[in-house]
Amino acid sequence: MNLIDVNKAFDTDEKCLAFLEQMRWPDGVRCVTCGANRISKITRKTASKNVRSNLYQCLEPSCKVQFTSTSGTIFNDSHLSLTKWFTAVALVINAKKGMSAMELGRNLGIIPLDNRIKKGRKTAWYLAHRIREAMAESEADRAIPLKGTVEADETYVGGRYDPRRKRERYQKPGVMGMIERGGKVRTMRIPTASRAVLLGNVLKHTTPDTTVYTDESIAYKKVGLSRTHGKVSHIKLEWVRGDVHTNTIENFWSLFKRGVVGSFHQLSIKHLQRYMNEFEYRFNNRQNAELFTLTLARMCGVKPMPYKQLISQ
Ligand SMILES: [Zn+2]
Repeated sequence: MNLIDVNKAFDTDEKCLAFLEQMRWPDGVRCVTCGANRISKITRKTASKNVRSNLYQCLEPSCKVQFTSTSGTIFNDSHLSLTKWFTAVALVINAKKGMSAMELGRNLGIIPLDNRIKKGRKTAWYLAHRIREAMAESEADRAIPLKGTVEADETYVGGRYDPRRKRERYQKPGVMGMIERGGKVRTMRIPTASRAVLLGNVLKHTTPDTTVYTDESIAYKKVGLSRTHGKVSHIKLEWVRGDVHTNTIENFWSLFKRGVVGSFHQLSIKHLQRYMNEFEYRFNNRQNAELFTLTLARMCGVKPMPYKQLISQ
């Protein structure tokens, strides 16, 4: 669904709630605490912004909890309307180069167009990170090796040091990426670009029948012992030799860096993994027509992430 379709289909919070409810409980509403299906519906007449209209009450005498279709999910305890959440999801999944919190906030009307007023930035930033949280590939999926022809490469993330901004210098974090030709990308933080780390990741994420293409870095030297290995020598200004190149992963890095570097600084390093998740997710689902629904479904499965928890990580 594109932005216009989303705004048309979900123009009220009631419609958003009904959609989430159908997705969470396709076979009928169940209690979020005890799982019972004896539920009564309380429809509230108050049109207050911060009150979810469809409230449920568990009829199990030992439980009796009240809940809504956003209880226990990442949407919970948000002052934002669900229509804004849905619009935000549509914006983020369609932003190929990523979308800064500022841009997201302005698009949603949370941040005034005149951004000299520091209003709404925190809300937009918090919202963006909660959407990203749902985009992480599961451990089980990450354990499946990449197939066919795989390009591997590493890079460093972070802007140029600018003394005028008086920020502390910091070690740019390293990221390694592997990409299946015509398939999915997988990225990982690396402590150093040592042979043990890079070779270790190649072996972990591929199988002996995989063909691996890298640059001439010495760290990849031993890949050829157990995999078909092709190298291009960037030092000798060789970028492509027939089928052997690392252009696919380098194109991914350039997208990723354009999206992240602009708003990136030392304070963001601890959140880097979430940005990586976002770019991986969008890339890996680039041909998925149901991406909007998939993303909302995943968000329903993500536990609430309080702001304090996010900033203390
Ligand atoms: Zn219950």
